[in-house]
Amino acid sequence: MPPHSAAPGGRSRIGVRLLLVTVMAGLVFSVLSTLVRGALAYMDERDALVDELAQVEDIIQPALAKAIWELDRASVKVHLDSAARLPALGQIVVTIVMADAEPEVHARRRPGWSPDASLPVLRRSLVYSPYADSREVVGELTVLANGGELKRRLYRELRIIFATQLIQSLLLAGFVMWMFNRSVTRHVRDVAAHLDALSPETLSRKLVLRDKMKQNDELDQLAGGVNELQHRLGGHLAQQAQYEGELSRHRDNLAELVGERTRELEAANLKLDQLSRSDALTGVSNRRHFDECKEVEFRRAQRTQQPLSLVICDIDYFKHFNDTYGHMAGDDCLRRVAVALAECCRRAGDVVARVGGEEFVILLPGQDRAEAQQCAERLRAAVQALGIAHTASEVAPSITISVGVAGLDLKKMESVDAFYHCADQALYRAKAGGRNRVVCWEGEA
Ligand code: GH3
Ligand code: MG
Ligand code: MG
Repeated sequence: MPPHSAAPGGRSRIGVRLLLVTVMAGLVFSVLSTLVRGALAYMDERDALVDELAQVEDIIQPALAKAIWELDRASVKVHLDSAARLPALGQIVVTIVMADAEPEVHARRRPGWSPDASLPVLRRSLVYSPYADSREVVGELTVLANGGELKRRLYRELRIIFATQLIQSLLLAGFVMWMFNRSVTRHVRDVAAHLDALSPETLSRKLVLRDKMKQNDELDQLAGGVNELQHRLGGHLAQQAQYEGELSRHRDNLAELVGERTRELEAANLKLDQLSRSDALTGVSNRRHFDECKEVEFRRAQRTQQPLSLVICDIDYFKHFNDTYGHMAGDDCLRRVAVALAECCRRAGDVVARVGGEEFVILLPGQDRAEAQQCAERLRAAVQALGIAHTASEVAPSITISVGVAGLDLKKMESVDAFYHCADQALYRAKAGGRNRVVCWEGEA
């Protein structure tokens, strides 16, 4: 399975990251918001506390002033005790002004309370009107606020502020997450699954985003881009396949062409080889081929001690023939004589060659001198049997040949040239002896 299709738990997810970031931002926002709103709440609570104390003063002031005027100490104490029970109050002090004595101080202090310089101190004179148009200052009332109560109220307020901010932030984060998942993550996952399942065979399958809330947004651009890419890739692959097919066809054609040319070349080489070994006029072997064969056969005979014979034929008075019938007729005669000689020597290994103008040699492997002599006689008779008219010949009315034969005698003939020379000597004797005859070399000098 490709890496991008791993289990969802195994990879980082944008949605989860977004959720975490949103929650973190919500927390920071809640803290900042709580601080700002807390500062405002502090001032509000402080004012409320001071108002509360002022109201207390307003309420108890007339009763206190009256109790002091009437020198009713018990009522003064009752008023102070009831006021001191108010949570907002830290300390309450009543100073009774005496005309002829030291002022009398009555105070009530909340247990554990200590003065707070940041909170105002409320002072007011206690005024009593015993009758109309008369105002008597009987004392002074001092009220100090309870800082602990202010803190308690402030903490309660801060808790509420923070809790509501946090709930707001979390709800917002959840909503953003839900929206993001619905409008982005789901489609991105679809795109990933589509790309994952893509192969050359499925390139034509288009990417379609399901149940989109809005059209023509970035996701649609992405889907359009993917489809365009698939389209181009499909075209590219098709073209590549076409090129590969053409290339393969060209390769096959080339191989066929090379094979054809190779076969033609081989045939041409074979033909060339044959031509290089054959005589152009008569078609029998030429001197070059004969020279190769005579060396090979001589060495074979040396090695195997098998008999080997050589026959040399020369047309009699051929110069006269040319003179009488023309060179063309001479060529034709040479061709017919060659055919006649070749037809007489058809054993495998027999080599018939034209080695000079009107001189032919025949190499007869496996035949001794007596067999070669018989063969030579057949050759001579075959040529004469052709009956090619030769009025200028001094031995017969038709074309004849003189033939020299030598059987290989390894004791006397140490080289192939010596062997050839013996056959040539025999031919010379056939000519000298009157032509149109066969002479064998007998080993004489
Ligand atoms: P001999 O009986 O002593 O062999 O006499 P000859 O005339 O055959 O021998 P000579 O060597 O005097 O003459 C050979 C002649 O063969 C000479 C030449 O005109 C002829 N000749 C050689 N090669 C060719 C050839 O390719 N075509 C033709 N038409 N004639 C050739
Ligand atoms: Mg000759
Ligand atoms: Mg001749």
